[in-house]
Amino acid sequence: MSCIFCGADSSDETVAHIFPQSLGGGDWAVLPAGLECAKCNQYFGSKVEPLALGSFPLLPFRLMMQIPTAKGKAPKQETHLGTLRATGMPGTLGIDPPDPRVEAAITAGRITQVRLLAECTEPLATARLLLKMGIEVIARDDPTIARSGRYDDARSFARAPRNGGNWWFLITTDHERLFATFRRGVSLADWVNRVSVEICEDAGAEMCVFRLLDMTLMCPMHAHILPPDMTTLPEPNFRLVTVLA
Ligand SMILES: [Zn+2]
Repeated sequence: MSCIFCGADSSDETVAHIFPQSLGGGDWAVLPAGLECAKCNQYFGSKVEPLALGSFPLLPFRLMMQIPTAKGKAPKQETHLGTLRATGMPGTLGIDPPDPRVEAAITAGRITQVRLLAECTEPLATARLLLKMGIEVIARDDPTIARSGRYDDARSFARAPRNGGNWWFLITTDHERLFATFRRGVSLADWVNRVSVEICEDAGAEMCVFRLLDMTLMCPMHAHILPPDMTTLPEPNFRLVTVLA
């Protein structure tokens, strides 16, 4: 019973979620007991997850799906109109602080769009969350392999990246399908069926693949895997995020 991240004793009853609760991860997303120590679980939950879940690309999903944090806080995002906030009513978002002029403009049809920042402002936390999930998926299937030296570079970047260390991940989005999905509305049951985290081999490279509706985040599980040639993967459907610790 040793922690897959730090090697400390992990025989306590820590409940760790592979798929974050603040993204809708329920009992189905819980890591088997004895794989993660309370300290690492608390560290990821307080220092890594909140940053990654509070920025693009994960924040818009929480906002559109109205998924509160594990502590019940509503997701929110700053916009040019004010703070956009989930209301708990599916299909309805609120703007804080309430502004009668904005409300009148929306009612009159003069404001029909709200622009959300689509720039990953927390690349380091997002990469670390992807690596954490990747190691947990491996540990769920085979704890011995997850604890082996094979994942030491991924483990240390997730748990305690060295200053100057670097990593990368690729965001692939089918924007038309994603916006159509959001317009149609997604039930939480549907959401759970259309999110997944798995380890895939892509041209011999081991990748953590995180699927959210029509968006996929791919993160290498080893430091030596080089990013793809982006000339064949044009923006905006493909975006390479380079990460510097
Ligand atoms: Zn630990």
